[in-house]
Amino acid sequence: MWKGFSLGVSDGVIWEEVKAVMNVHSTEHGEANAPVLQCLWEYVKSAQEEILLSPYMPAYYAFMTHLLLCAPFLALDALGSVCQRVRLWRIAADASPPPSLQQWSECFWRVLYKYLICVLPVTALFQMVRSHALPELAPSVWQLFVEVIACFLLFDMLFYIWHLTMHRVPWLYRNIHQLHHQHRITFALAAQDASSVELLSLLLLALSSAWVVGCHPLSEAFFHLINSWLAVEDHCGYDLPWALHRLLPFLGGAPFHQAHHSIHSGNYAPYFTHWDHLFGTYRASSSHPK
Ligand SMILES: [Zn+2]
Ligand SMILES: [Zn+2]
Repeated sequence: MWKGFSLGVSDGVIWEEVKAVMNVHSTEHGEANAPVLQCLWEYVKSAQEEILLSPYMPAYYAFMTHLLLCAPFLALDALGSVCQRVRLWRIAADASPPPSLQQWSECFWRVLYKYLICVLPVTALFQMVRSHALPELAPSVWQLFVEVIACFLLFDMLFYIWHLTMHRVPWLYRNIHQLHHQHRITFALAAQDASSVELLSLLLLALSSAWVVGCHPLSEAFFHLINSWLAVEDHCGYDLPWALHRLLPFLGGAPFHQAHHSIHSGNYAPYFTHWDHLFGTYRASSSHPK
């Protein structure tokens, strides 16, 4: 656990109790579930140990998974120019055509440049102060599930606070966040099209969330992977019939985040909607299911 993070005493006690309960469940379910993840963990450890321990891994993993997860939406944007059905799924279909290949390309070079000059060196330093021990045992499926959910709940809360602060403090908005709002209508790759400081802060928030939760490295890898997917889905510009927010109503999804980019306020949380509902910053999206 990251001792530098300022959890209060009562928060710390509550979290230790949650971890104790979680460990009981892990032990109960561990033996039954162990083979499921143990093979995967042993393969990853034996084949990829050096890569896993590399200080450059977080930035490389974040950049590459982001690119790979954006690929289906690049295909969808290309299809949109010839297929009416695909255009109807676009949230802002009336406001603008799908982004061009040139927009994708310009965005790619901007993001790559910021990763190289800022995100890669700083996250490498951050990694060097973390523990490098890889455990022998894989987590049970239950432990992995609880750790990933805990990471998301914590990351969502921290992001909400940071995002709201950037909007409420004019200096922070102008110097850090405004660049991300150049996209009034978003597309998948734009999820990472932000200032170097914002990109870095988001990656550090994700790494810190996993550190505070005390995740197993395999749980952490799943968390970062799903985190990248949800960020891409938030910005993809499509309200797809199979999107996660249609299945899980507590997620905001692309219409929720597109509303934030359109009106420049409200819907500050990245994924869940409870913080915006609780603090009165929720804005209904104008998307109509098709
Ligand atoms: Zn914003
Ligand atoms: Zn955004």
